[in-house]
Amino acid sequence: MSAVKESVVKVSGSARTSSDLLSRQQKLESSAVSYPRKLPIAIASASGSYVYDVEGRRYIDFLTGAGVLPLGHNPSALVEVARSQLDVLVHGLDFPTPAKSAFIDAHLSMLPEALQGKYRIHMCGPTGADAVEAAIKLAKLNTGGSEVISFFGGYHGCTQGALSLTTDREMKLGLRSLVPGVHYYPYSYCYSCPFGLEKGSCQDTCATFFSRSMKDSHNGLGDMAAVIMECVQGEGGAIPVSKALIQEVASFCRDSGVPMIVDEVQTGCGRTGTWFAFEQYGIEPDIIVMSKAVSGIGTPCSFILYKEHLNTWSAGKHIGTFRGNNVAFATGAEFVEQMRSLHILENVSERSAQLVAGLENLKSRYPLVGDVRG
Ligand code: PLP
Repeated sequence: MSAVKESVVKVSGSARTSSDLLSRQQKLESSAVSYPRKLPIAIASASGSYVYDVEGRRYIDFLTGAGVLPLGHNPSALVEVARSQLDVLVHGLDFPTPAKSAFIDAHLSMLPEALQGKYRIHMCGPTGADAVEAAIKLAKLNTGGSEVISFFGGYHGCTQGALSLTTDREMKLGLRSLVPGVHYYPYSYCYSCPFGLEKGSCQDTCATFFSRSMKDSHNGLGDMAAVIMECVQGEGGAIPVSKALIQEVASFCRDSGVPMIVDEVQTGCGRTGTWFAFEQYGIEPDIIVMSKAVSGIGTPCSFILYKEHLNTWSAGKHIGTFRGNNVAFATGAEFVEQMRSLHILENVSERSAQLVAGLENLKSRYPLVGDVRG
């Protein structure tokens, strides 16, 4: 276990304690700061599963940096790669580079066998939200449609377009004129069923509702551009979609030519035991949105993968200055290698089974535990 390390940055004045740094933050930073309101600490350093505050107190980071650190904080192999790449090239716009090429090869190699060779990659501005924007834009350009279906509980980011797809009322409060044309459909949150049904007693009602609505000439929809969904809602509360619902969406999209976008920003890179969560549902999305963990060490990076036939946009249609972080590319390529060689996916499945068994046991003994989802 490594102890807390001295920060490499000298802080001004007497700001040395968590309380000093938190009050500086309160004075100088935006009132929209979020995490430190729930966990009022100032972070000095991190290593593996641990985060150290400036007083040297150690915390287990169950949040894994909001889902970006599958190998923990500062894994030594990736730190080494990042250091070397810093000496070579950092900022590369969207020019091809050896690091980018290795990154692309590594990530495309994680597509399931049957989907190999079917997708192109587009590097986006470094956030998940920008990749969601790119996905929606690409779908609109290809279909000429304007309407997008999203799902209750969905979270897709905080930019205006991505927020339009997000359903959390509080996040949208006070913001008028978000992107129009978004329609929200019930998601299979069986523990708290949107149709008021008991878990286990329904006949995939949300799937039936979706399918009947799509056929209903009074569904209120205009020309469709896309359907976007998370296979496991993250911010919505760790809720896996039912097989019936996602397969119904996939078959509607396949039959109608409306692109199906799966947002794998949070579920991608092995979070659910397969590299992409959609693999567990036997579907073939048209556009896959990736970010968070893709560089393996937290250096910002995002991209979309999309089917070859959608590659119709013209040069410069979705640009952004920070789409060429070669440190992220180099660490991302090594990260994929590490995930393979350390058999992390197998471990995710094993630990998941272990956790589910333990939690089921708790549920059988304590009524306070309402639902075990894995
Ligand atoms: N999509 C999903 C499913 C997410 O969980 C998030 C972030 O939590 C985003 C999109 C937005 O990503 P970012 O915060 O990098 O903009």
